[in-house]
Parts: sequence; C-alpha cells; structure tokens
Amino acid sequence: MGLNDDWRRRSLAAVWHPCTQMKLHAEGLAAQPLIPVARAEGVWLHDHEGRRYLDGISSWWVNLFGHNHPAIRDALVRQLHTLDHVMLAGFTHAPVVELSERLSALTGLGHAFYGSDGASATEIALKMSAHFWRNAGQPAKCRFVGIAGGYHGETVGALAVTDIALFREAYAPLVRLAATVPSPDARAAGEGETAADVAERAAAALDGWLADHADETAAVIAEPLVQCAAGMAMHHPVYLRRLREICDQHRVHLVLDEIAVGFGRTGTLFAHFHSGIRPDFLCLSKGLTGGTLPLSAVLTTDEVFAAFYDDQVARGFLHSHSYTGNPLACRAALATLDLIEQTDAIAANRATSDRLWAQFAPLNGHARVRHARRQGMIFAWDVESHRPDFARRCASHALARGLLLRPIGTTLYAMPPYVISEEEGAFLAQGALAALDATLAEEDHGL
Ligand SMILES: *Cc1c(COP(=O)(O)O)cnc(C)c1O
Repeated sequence: MGLNDDWRRRSLAAVWHPCTQMKLHAEGLAAQPLIPVARAEGVWLHDHEGRRYLDGISSWWVNLFGHNHPAIRDALVRQLHTLDHVMLAGFTHAPVVELSERLSALTGLGHAFYGSDGASATEIALKMSAHFWRNAGQPAKCRFVGIAGGYHGETVGALAVTDIALFREAYAPLVRLAATVPSPDARAAGEGETAADVAERAAAALDGWLADHADETAAVIAEPLVQCAAGMAMHHPVYLRRLREICDQHRVHLVLDEIAVGFGRTGTLFAHFHSGIRPDFLCLSKGLTGGTLPLSAVLTTDEVFAAFYDDQVARGFLHSHSYTGNPLACRAALATLDLIEQTDAIAANRATSDRLWAQFAPLNGHARVRHARRQGMIFAWDVESHRPDFARRCASHALARGLLLRPIGTTLYAMPPYVISEEEGAFLAQGALAALDATLAEEDHGL
C-alpha cells in the first residue's frame, strides 16, 4: 500500500470530513477518492506520491496569493517567536491593533470585532444588530431578511439566513427562519430585461417587504455582487445602492457578507466598493489571512459602537470566542494586506481576469454552456446536464487531469489564486474543458 492509500485509510477511519457523505468515499463505489495532500506551493497541491493538482477554487475560496507564500509564512514565523496567543478581554497586542486600524482605514468602519470563522462573523453581526435595536429601545426589531439562495454559514444562527435547502432542511426545527426576498441574480432577466432591471425588481420586492415589516426587522443581510454558494449568481451593482437606500428609508441595518468576495476577488478591494456605498456591518473571513489561518472580523460604524458604550455592563456586547483576535491570525492578515498593496493586486487581477477569460473562450462558447460569466477573479458556466451527480462526476474528471474543481449543482466555476500564471491558466482552462466534455460524454452515452 502506498503512502496516499495509507493516509486515505486512516483519514476515513478517524476524520469526519466536512460537507461530505462519508460513504461516497468508501471503497468499491464509483466515488471520488480522498486526496491526501503532503504539501502545497503557489497554485499547486502535492500528494505523497508525486502527483499534483492545480487548486482551481483556492481551497474553498480562501487562498489569494498561492499556498505557502513566503511573505505570509515569514510574518507568521516572526510572530510565533514573540507572542503566540493571549486572551483579548482585558488584554491587547500589536497585531490586533494594527489590523483593526488598517481595516478601519480601508472601509471607513471604525470598530472591528473578531471571530474565528465566517459563520461566527455572521452570528456576531446578527446579534450586534438586534442588540443595537434593543439598546435603542426597539426590542421588537429582532428579525432578519436574507436574499434567496443566500449563504452565510452553517451554524444554527447562520442557517437562519442561509437559503440553501440541502444545508438547512435537516435542521429546520432548530432554526429561527429569516424572511427571504428575491435574488437580484442577473440570470433571471426576461426578454428585453437587463441585469439592472432584475436588480431593480428584486430591490422593489425588498422595499415592499420592509414597508410592512420594518418594525420587527433588525437587518438585511446580503452577499454583494456574487452569491457564491448559490452557484456564482452575479448581480448588477445598482442592487447594492438600492439596498442601502431602502435600508436607510426603513431604518434597518445593512449587513454585507464579504466573506467570499472580499480582498480583491471581485475586481475592487471589497465588492461593495463597486457601488460606492457603506454597510452598517461588514463580515470578513476566508481571504482575510490569505488562506493560512482561521480568522473572521465584523466591522461596524461609530453609531453602532456608541449604542453599546454605557455604564451598564449588560448593554455591552458580551460575546467572545476563546481565540478572538489571535495574534498569529492577525499577523497573517497584515501580511496579506501588505501583499495586496505591494503587488498592486487589484490592478494585477484586472489583467489576470482578462487573460483567463480569453483562455476560457472554448468554455464560454461551448454548445452546452449557458450564462458564461465573470466578476473579477470569479468565473462561472451553467452546464446543460440532467445528471443530479454532474458536480461529483465533473470534479472526478478534473482530479484525474490534475485539477481541483468543485462544481455547484450544474454550475462549473473557477476561482483560482491571484498568482496563477499564463501557463497555469492554460492548464486550468484546458483541464476544465476536458473534464466537462468527459462528463457530458458519459451522460450522452448513458454511462
Ligand atoms: C464561506 C462563507 C461563509 C461561512 O464561512 P465559514 O468560515 O465556512 O463558516 C459565510 N458567508 C459566505 C458568503 C461564505 O462564502
């Protein structure tokens, strides 16, 4: 038995893998084998036996500048030699102060609260919003509105605003469901309609809902520009401007979840920069540490902060996680922000996106592809397939070609690290096309 098989066997016996029906990894089934990764560098994941895989989805959208980037690694090593961790209640340290100052300068949101993953950022924002209204003497404003197809994490509180049946159904009795309003997904455009028309229509539906329910609503939560987990559903930035106006008009907070789309992914540093608005709460995670360590942040306004600043302890935000503001994670985030500046990543990504889009031409024009689309460094194609297991089969064909892709439903997408070279881009484009054709050939032959 080789090293890969050995790790595979031990992992399947002892590790419960995320978002996975474990039986699909069992031997004998026509399944995806688990891939043991020994090391990673740049866009490449290496197994124990000399095979490598191009990370076409940035390891679930977290990686920005490639794996094992020396600048982030060196910053982490230096930090590890001075301060590993200290609790953040009653204590503070340079990395968390510097990071908070920089995030504030970048977003105009002056107060940063930290968690360890995206779902906890969602919950922090929801709790802060409802608690704000309670402190403001309006405790009835404690419900939330989410967008159809929205994804904000999978803890019980975050599931309340996550509109993906597969993730939510089994836990429905545990969840205090938010209201759901129509998505501005540009693919919903009818004959003669533009993406902006769809956005206006979706905004009008939200406006209508809040006209009746603003008194009991604390906040609207939305993923700006791209609803990634919904299958890279993209919308016109005018939707965000309308969201801001409508929330102001009805006195409801606007929470923007940029956990997946922040840090240059959509072509601006933050996706909401496309529309020139400012949210009341901004949730960040994933790319925040360049894909190295778990860290999330919720940024908010002076107005929200002031509502908690009081002589009474109970009017404060008494929320914590053991690793809140972990110095190592904050140091990785600072090194990531340095890289964004030093590499002029926003401008560089614009060129990389154009280059990749040209390399993806055969996919864009593919006879079985609809709605070829991109937003910055996110690329997606809806495939005409009737296979309920299209995603799994296509992912397997990609892996067989040395490529990590993980379609969502029948949507094939790529979200590579920003550092992908022209040659690596060609490998990604050719591999994705070959995987798609192999999957469709099986379908057409009834295999
Ligand atoms: C991934 C994601 C989350 C949840 O983050 P976790 O770290 O997986 O809990 C929340 N919102 C969006 C938009 C995401 O993409």
